[in-house]
Amino acid sequence: MFAARIDRARAQMQATGTEVLLLSVGADLPYLTGYEAMPLERLTMLVLPADGEAELIIPALEAPLVNIEDNAGEDMFSLVPWGETEDPVQLAVDRIGSRTSVAVGETTWSTFLVQILNRTSGITFRDAGTVMTPLRSVKDAAEVESLRNASQAVDRIAARLQSGEIPVIGQTEAQLSAELGRQIVAEGHHKVNFAIVAAGENAASPHHHAGSRVIQPDEVVLCDFGGTMNDDYGVGYCSDITRCVYTGQPPAEFVELYDVLFEAQAASVAAAIPGTPLEEIDRTGRKIITDAGYGEYFIHRTGHGIGVEAHEHPYIVEGNDQPLTPGHAFSVEPGIYVPGKWGARLEDIVVAGADGPDPLNTVDHHLAVLA
Ligand code: ZN
Ligand code: ZN
Repeated sequence: MFAARIDRARAQMQATGTEVLLLSVGADLPYLTGYEAMPLERLTMLVLPADGEAELIIPALEAPLVNIEDNAGEDMFSLVPWGETEDPVQLAVDRIGSRTSVAVGETTWSTFLVQILNRTSGITFRDAGTVMTPLRSVKDAAEVESLRNASQAVDRIAARLQSGEIPVIGQTEAQLSAELGRQIVAEGHHKVNFAIVAAGENAASPHHHAGSRVIQPDEVVLCDFGGTMNDDYGVGYCSDITRCVYTGQPPAEFVELYDVLFEAQAASVAAAIPGTPLEEIDRTGRKIITDAGYGEYFIHRTGHGIGVEAHEHPYIVEGNDQPLTPGHAFSVEPGIYVPGKWGARLEDIVVAGADGPDPLNTVDHHLAVLA
């Protein structure tokens, strides 16, 4: 699998005129090799030439962690371990050699990139997204199943939230957030990425930091949570879901708001037909929210791609006229946020199937009423 991905990366390098790909910390490296670089002052960098052998420059003390064999048993790259007194940037520069077109991983630390820039000349540097984004944004069947497993895990947590099994009233936002995080791990994720809990007026802040506010009866509680679950090869795939509960009977004004959100979210999911421009998915839900008079309260794009990163290409946003392609995996998460009062968001992960949307989150979309 990894050797095949490296071959696809090389093909994309050829198509974009890229002679060398440099990948350090971030999701591109584990996507291609199964190994994630330690985010350290010590440089780890894969040097992948379009026309030669790949090498992984790595601190000698991290080298035992690397498996250089693909799951098919092929060696994907060779290791270049460096000792504490060596200069790893020079090892990378030497391997670029006389090549003049170099793509650098998006999240490479600037301290290393600046040193590479200062020690080379005549090279055109570009963002490695030109090589990696087309690969990563279209998921294969195994990746879709990994995403589905992670989505179903958070669905089970959401169901316990909606049924009242998870204590809500009387908890602080931070306590509920910690409990969601605990369950994310208990459900098989290897790490928690976020667990937003926003009660009452705090729900008007889309990325509210769960705090000491105690959740009261008769208010909305917005919960947006997800983690990373490893597949059989140790590559992590992300979950991300938002559901709202109401701690009592919701007032008619909130029911009306939520009904509009529900309708908009479902319409955006239904619009996910291959060939549709991605911005059209945003427009579909946004029109419903705007026509109902809440347009000014929907203050963000409809969604983001998801895979080995919680947010990645493609983005479901006005201005992105890229066509929806089978294998695209993304969130559909419209929200309505009334400052100082309340807010709501409804989020599922959806995969573009050949014939239409394949929603990975299927837990109840209605506003759950907790008494
Ligand atoms: Zn989310
Ligand atoms: Zn999201």
